[in-house]
Amino acid sequence: MADGTSEPAAGANAALVDDVRTWLAENWDPDLSVEDWWSAVAKAGWTAPHFTPEEGGRGLPRQSGAIVRSTFGTEGALRPPGGLGLLMAAPTILTHGTPDQIDRLVTPILDGRAGWCQLFSEPGAGSDLAGLTTRAVRDGDRWIINGQKVWSSMARECDHGMLLARTNLDVPKHSGISWFAFRLDQPGVTIRPLREMTGDAVFNEVFFDDAECADADLIGGEGNGWTVTQTTLYFERTGIGAGGGHAGFPSPGPLGGMLGRRAGDAALDEVPGSNLTLSSKDLLALARRTGRNTDPAIRQKLAELITLTDIGVWNARRGKAEAARGGGQAVANIGKIAQTRIMKLSGEIALDILGADGMLASPDGPDDGRYSHAFVFAPASSIYGGTDQIQRNIIGERVLGLPRDPNPDKEVPYGEVLRRIASGR
Ligand SMILES: Cc1cc2nc3c(=O)[nH]c(=O)nc-3n(C[C@H](O)[C@H](O)[C@H](O)COP(=O)(O)OP(=O)(O)OC[C@H]3O[C@@H](n4cnc5c(N)ncnc54)[C@H](O)[C@@H]3O)c2cc1C
Repeated sequence: MADGTSEPAAGANAALVDDVRTWLAENWDPDLSVEDWWSAVAKAGWTAPHFTPEEGGRGLPRQSGAIVRSTFGTEGALRPPGGLGLLMAAPTILTHGTPDQIDRLVTPILDGRAGWCQLFSEPGAGSDLAGLTTRAVRDGDRWIINGQKVWSSMARECDHGMLLARTNLDVPKHSGISWFAFRLDQPGVTIRPLREMTGDAVFNEVFFDDAECADADLIGGEGNGWTVTQTTLYFERTGIGAGGGHAGFPSPGPLGGMLGRRAGDAALDEVPGSNLTLSSKDLLALARRTGRNTDPAIRQKLAELITLTDIGVWNARRGKAEAARGGGQAVANIGKIAQTRIMKLSGEIALDILGADGMLASPDGPDDGRYSHAFVFAPASSIYGGTDQIQRNIIGERVLGLPRDPNPDKEVPYGEVLRRIASGR
């Protein structure tokens, strides 16, 4: 996969915008269905321009995706499909999958026919993800799944999940996990929504009751799930650290509600800004509009935000340069912590600018309650994709060489660990 180690220069950006505009002038047709439009977009390599041409992309640097999407938006065309499939599942399967798996599973992500969620966290396994207990037991050419996941964002709108399950209890915990491309639309799966403090119900609990997964959909081999997961988490953290995340992208897949629509109507409905994140540009515009741009306290905070954002961009560039030399993994952890700080500060500034109006939520608040929503969502950023404390642990242990967290059960078969926990020993 193209690793995005080179930054597009300003001239290259302008050339890319021209390329996209030319392509759209020839191909954008608002009367197509979203499904047909996304198929044309994927064939042209615009969904993931940073993938190689063999993988369905254009071999461009990683940042090019944002330029392509924004140019689609400014030209009035429906943007390419997004979601967790594009952010995490596709690069994971490209890295660890067989040619057959890549062909069957990555193509529908690129053309928006599949919607993916992440089925990692469990009630007893979040930061300690390797302590998961959802079981997968082999039965001929299929696996039978039993257990529960939680905090599964968008699971009700998805037909596929990146599922981690324990396939062997006789080996230490990191060795007995496997990574499955799992179909959610089957009788053994129950999905229940969970409401967050934003008022939305993006989260879900997912229960598996003799659910099935074909052996052909086991990615990276039996018992190799922890290695495969590191790839998924790397792409999650770098996506978040780069400010990308998956917020505000059109929802793909048969349950995303987009495929059968007229592409022109779907493009008109696209929200120009996300109600999860606020950029320094958004906040500068808000400060000017409300006349608060002359307040020295607001100016100082805005300057801090712009400084942190610029440092974030430089950090991402440093990560790319280090990746080119074969290192740089910890830059993703640093970038993730930095992005959390930026999100919290942005929410704070918005409410400082708005004063009492900032307390109003949708539909009464300014810009449909966008600012109060982003403020209430901001604390989540220090939890998802690995908490701030876990990111700091990783940096401490892997970069600074500090002693590792004690882990007395590391070499003990996980079935034995569970027996000890159950007996209170
Ligand atoms: C908005 C959002 C979206 C999410 N989406 C998904 C999703 O789609 N799929 C999915 O699988 N999960 C998802 N999650 C779950 C997320 O990955 C977990 O919440 C996260 O990994 C933390 O796990 P936990 O909630 O079990 O907390 P715990 O692991 O129980 O942690 C509780 C507290 O203890 C601290 N802590 C734990 N261990 C250590 C340690 N060793 N050293 C220092 N401090 C420690 C943590 O930092 C935290 O402050 C999402 C979470 C959020 C907030």
